[in-house]
Amino acid sequence: MTFANTPRIGHVIGGEMTAPEGVRDVVDPGRLDDVVAQVAVGTADDVDRAVKQAHAAFAVWRRVPPGERAQKLLAAADILSGSAEELAPLLVREHGGVMWEAQTDFALGTGVLQHTASLIEDFSRPVQFDDEQSLIIVERVPRGVAAAIVPWNMPIVLAMMKLAPALATGNTMVLKPSPFAPAALTIALQRMSEAFPPGVINVVHGDAEVGEALTTHPLVRKIGFTGGTETARHVMSAAAGTIKNITLELGGNDPAIVLDDVDIESALDRKLQGIVTRTGQICFAVKRIYVPRNMYDEFVDALADRLSDIAVGHGLDPRSGFGPLNNKKQYDSVSNLIERTKNSSAKVLELGRKLDPDSWDNGYYLLPHVVRDVEHEAPVSRYEQFGPIIPVIAYDDEDQAVRWANDSEYGLGSSVWTNDYDRGLAIARQIEAGSTFINTHSFESLDLRMPFGGVKESGIGREFGEAGMREYAEEHAIRILK
Ligand code: NAD
Repeated sequence: MTFANTPRIGHVIGGEMTAPEGVRDVVDPGRLDDVVAQVAVGTADDVDRAVKQAHAAFAVWRRVPPGERAQKLLAAADILSGSAEELAPLLVREHGGVMWEAQTDFALGTGVLQHTASLIEDFSRPVQFDDEQSLIIVERVPRGVAAAIVPWNMPIVLAMMKLAPALATGNTMVLKPSPFAPAALTIALQRMSEAFPPGVINVVHGDAEVGEALTTHPLVRKIGFTGGTETARHVMSAAAGTIKNITLELGGNDPAIVLDDVDIESALDRKLQGIVTRTGQICFAVKRIYVPRNMYDEFVDALADRLSDIAVGHGLDPRSGFGPLNNKKQYDSVSNLIERTKNSSAKVLELGRKLDPDSWDNGYYLLPHVVRDVEHEAPVSRYEQFGPIIPVIAYDDEDQAVRWANDSEYGLGSSVWTNDYDRGLAIARQIEAGSTFINTHSFESLDLRMPFGGVKESGIGREFGEAGMREYAEEHAIRILK
């Protein structure tokens, strides 16, 4: 990290970073005595100032031609990628991931900006119907001030998935980072804001009260939210007050269905990342695995074998396979689930090893766990664990596996593992989810041409590409009667 002192991070309002008055410490979840940054605690007044700045900037930004908007988005992408090397270690220290995960966050965020920029001109072209009677023009216009609220697990790309389509379509933005990973994101956003007219990008810090002030502000016309399903219920009812448009990217309990023709070792080569990346704290991580009963033991043994090799430690240590959980609430929740599962009829295998046993208790560290001989109905299979614990469930036939996969209030990601693409496709089509991947289920599964989002209580709307841009645009229909 190149910062000489602990960074003090203010709000970004109207192109300036404010000098923070009241601050909150951001603590390294892997070294609890290390204060990584001090971050402003916002109020409803700060939200009001930021929204008014964004509203004033909207009058200017909406008139900027699409080609110029694309250029500015590309300039912002350069600033973001140019900041990655410097800011990735700071991100590791605040969110608890390992270096490649933080670097991937910056790389994916940069990709989202660049891909969106490449679509702006086509997306903005009005559709016309011209006949003897009339001329109809359907234009895509921005909604106004968009609010973005993001979590701590992958803050950079999750912010860019809102910022890029919002700005591309002529909206301005007020973004609220999570108090658990606000520093690297805010520094990057402040630098990126300089590529745009002042007030196009604003940032206000805080937790639920600030979120509430944003989601109820009458000048905010759009909310892009990523976070937990419970929080989303508050966001939805807050948005109802002034009938705001919302996009919600929420929790998931992604099933992976292994078919009986699979080669276990090569499937595990790919699947393992989807289980332990970001310590299991990814919305579309593999969260339950369904395996044919006749290959159950072989599969669990091979999985346990692989997880035994993983060393858990601080994200800045290159030997770490994964880092700590992000915060105490998360740590307590996953620890309780592990204890509860140990006290059930299922068998819990604690695997992996502690990289630095002496400092283990100075962070929210947990070893990887596999749960075997577990039922589909067990809490560890039904809840979103959001941690390094994975249940493996035996099934008797494919219909049962599909029924169980769909027996969830969630529907974000999912995967099918097979050597036969046709079989895989036939199963994929029966799964209730926003995405189904065949023979992959991790960051590498994502492609910006695939709309990303969930069904059921995993969310409303889609992000990435044109689908993501539609969420931030209204259609304005104009008809001239001849
Ligand atoms: P969270 O819901 O606790 O917080 C998310 C954001 O909402 C934070 O910025 C928080 O400060 C803010 N917030 C809290 N209360 C609010 C309120 N009343 N009004 C407005 N904003 C409020 O989630 P988290 O713990 O930060 O993240 C974990 C959750 O996010 C998991 O459930 C995970 O699955 C989900 N997630 C989903 C996706 C996706 O794309 N579907 C991606 C990452 C994480």
